[in-house]
Parts: sequence; structure tokens; C-alpha cells
Amino acid sequence: MTTAPTPGGPRFRFAPSPTGSFHVGGARTALHNWALARRLGGTFVLRIEDTDEARNRPEWTQGIIDALAWIGISADDDHFEGPHFQSANAEAHVAAAQRLFESGAAYYCDLTGQEVQDRAKELGITGYDGYSRDRGLEPAPGRVLRFRVPDGTTVVNDAVRGDVSFENSTIEDFVLLRGNGSPMFLLANVVDDIEMSITDVVRAEEHLPNTPKQQMLWSALGETPPRWAHVPVLVNEQRKKLSKRRDKVALESYRDDGILPDAMVNYLMTLGWTPPGAEEAGSEIFSWDALEAAFDLSAVAHSPAFFDIKKLVAFNKQYIKNLPLDEFLAAVDADLPADWDRQRFAAIAPHIMERLERLGDAPGLVDFLFLGDDVDPELDQAAWDKAVKPEWAASFLSDVTEAYAELGDGEWTDETLKSTMESLMVPYEIKLGKAQALPRVAVTGRAVGPPLFEAMDVMGRAETVRRLRGAVTRLEASSAPD
Ligand code: GLU
Repeated sequence: MTTAPTPGGPRFRFAPSPTGSFHVGGARTALHNWALARRLGGTFVLRIEDTDEARNRPEWTQGIIDALAWIGISADDDHFEGPHFQSANAEAHVAAAQRLFESGAAYYCDLTGQEVQDRAKELGITGYDGYSRDRGLEPAPGRVLRFRVPDGTTVVNDAVRGDVSFENSTIEDFVLLRGNGSPMFLLANVVDDIEMSITDVVRAEEHLPNTPKQQMLWSALGETPPRWAHVPVLVNEQRKKLSKRRDKVALESYRDDGILPDAMVNYLMTLGWTPPGAEEAGSEIFSWDALEAAFDLSAVAHSPAFFDIKKLVAFNKQYIKNLPLDEFLAAVDADLPADWDRQRFAAIAPHIMERLERLGDAPGLVDFLFLGDDVDPELDQAAWDKAVKPEWAASFLSDVTEAYAELGDGEWTDETLKSTMESLMVPYEIKLGKAQALPRVAVTGRAVGPPLFEAMDVMGRAETVRRLRGAVTRLEASSAPD
């Protein structure tokens, strides 16, 4: 159940870097934060981490905002705050670094990257050995500011994984400010979280190695660290982490493919988490309200979750099937050619909805209805060749054609079309499935499609009979002796 934001309520954040199209994994992280913020009377802060100037582009920021809106994370909702921009806070990042230097929690070092590597090689260690810890260097161009990692153990209390311990001796004195004085990501991220009074950091597990460092920074800056939660990442069918280069990861590519946002949201939420009751129900299809009410970080699986496009499509099929007709028509509209008669489409729509895996499959199923009155559908030759094979086929087709031509206006309904065909097939001793095969190819050009009698009903008598007659003529021509 959604709770209005309350003063002192928890503050979650979603902190994407606008360096590319919006990733399905990012969408999942955003949804986790959104569900928790809404249920707990908290706030969802959107912070755009745009300090990597070489890789950021402003259009990606708009892409993130649009993608979030598509999955229902709306700037109009009271729980939403932002977007804030990390780049606007650069002074605070540097000021925090300065405080760490003054308190002795950080120190300057004048070794170049190459020198650090050479020393490590010489000493047989990896990383930086703390060479400048006690050299008392003052800031100067080219000197980096490093954090003085204290002795001991850092325990990250993680809502997904429980306590995760890191030996501080395995963590080098990491860089806070580069030689040109610009802040590193780790520092900027923590300073922003502190300034934005973030209480809960829920993010992908790939950030877990950063967390002990960030937790130390929180403490060194005199703050109580937030609650942490690191959610296992998404992988492809080869169990490799989803990657932009290898996999289809952009949320908008799924939108453009005709995946419904509710299906995407439901699917993303059930990756690595099974809503209570799903097993008993034998289904993971749940409304957003139910998912929001039940989402539980401590029940998230510890292993990476397989982003299974087939399963997503199966969810989508369910969602399309269950849409109210008017919502279906609105959702599919963009996929339909502009010149298609919308009323005609609306008449056939209820008969195709449950067959669609994606909205974009709709036009290809019913295009034969929109060819104009005297244009014939393109014929699937193999389907035709197969349908004309039985020796009764030609005679049956001509019986059907004549009987349909004689139906009165009031009789042109799917029920009458069906019962007429059923009585005509009796002498041929065939079943309805077989009987429909040739008339179907004759009218639609294909062997598969929406239910035939409904399609012919929508098409109307004149057009249907014209196509059936065309097929009869074609058959006669092909069987006539040369
Ligand atoms: N900007 C970081 C990223 O997109 C997020 C870091 C975080 O959530 O703390 O990977």
C-alpha cells in the first residue's frame, strides 16, 4: 500500500550516469527504489551523475526521464524528487575533500600513475602502498588526494546479503581528488548522498566493492552511513552480465518492439524475486500495487538473475490479452499504418488480442483486411498449394462461394458463416479445420491468421465473395487443360 511521503521518512535515490541509453538493469534498480519509497512513505530522489564530461550527453538525461515515466516512475508523484544534477554540486565535493585533508583522513601524494605501478611491481604488491601517508605534502597541481584507509575490518550490513566483511588491509588508499583537483566518482557519490539526506542506497551488486570505501567516507565525514542493499545483476542466457555491446539492453528498444510497460515492470520486479503467493498461484503476473506492497529486499535471490526475453514476451502476451479493448486500441495505434480504417481494426481487434506476443505483431496478422476493396492479399504460394491439394477442395470452395454469395445482408454474421460452412461440409465428410483451409487462403492469402468467420464478418460480403470467386477462377484456370 502506498503511503504519502512523511516528514523524516526514508530517502531512496536512483543515481544513473547519463552515458548511454537507459538499461533494463537500471530500470529494475529504479523500480526497487520506487516501490520501497512509495510503500514506506519515503522519497525517491533522482540524481543524474553527470560528472564524467567525456561520456555524458544531455539527450541521455532526457532519455532517462522519459524511460522512467514509461515504467510509471513519474515526476508528478509526491514521492518523486529531482532531477538533481551531480555537476551542480562540484564545490561541495571539493569542500568535503578539503575537510578530509584538514582532519588528516586524507593526504596528498605526488606519485604519477606510472610511478605507483613501478613501485607496486618493485614491492611485489598490487595497487598503492601508502607511500605518501606520512610525507606531509601540501596540495599542489599534479598531486592527488588519497583517503587514509584505517586499519581493521569494514562490515557492510547489506539488506540483500546480510553482513559482508572487508579487511581494510585489502583496500588501498584510494584517490578522492585527481591531480587536476577534480573529484572522483566515489567521493562525489557519497557527498551527494549525504547532502541529499539519503537513508537507503539500493543499487546493483557491481557497486558492492565500492561500498566499504564509501562507508569509510561517510564515517570520516562524521555521518552515519545509510542502509545498503546490493541487488545481484542481470545476466544473459550464457550467464554473462548483460552488456550494451552483446545484448539488447535499452529499455526503449523493448518499448519500440511493442512490450507493454506494465508487462516490463512486472517482469523486472520478478527477476530474482518471487512475490509471495506466486508459487501457489502458478503465476508471477501481479499488479504494480501488489508488487509494491510485497517487495522485500531480504527475499531477493543472491545469484544473478537471467534476463529471459522469452519470458518477458510471455508476460507481455498475458498483459495484451488482459487489456480492456479501448486500452489495447490506444496502445497499438502507433503500430498501425495511418490509412487503416480504425473502426474496421477495432472490429477485428478482440479476435487477435490473445494471439499477440507484441503489439507490433498486430498489423501483420490483419493486413489483408485493409487492402482496399479490389486489391487481393499477397498469396502465400506454399499455403495455397497445400490447401488446393485434396481432390474435394475445388468443389467445396465453389459450394462455399455460392452459398455465401446468396446470404442476405442480415445473415452476414460469423455464426451464419460458420453454420453455413458446417452444413456444406457434411457430404465431404471433413472437419471444420480442414474445411476452412482453402477459404482462408483465398480470403486472407495465408494459412494462419485471426479466426476466419470473424474476419469475413468484418470484411463484409462483397469483398469476401469477390476474393472467394477470384480463388475459384484461379483454381479453374490452373486445372484447365492446356
Ligand atoms: N552513477 C552510478 C551508476 O550509474 C550509480 C552509483 C550508485 O547507485 O551509487 O552506475
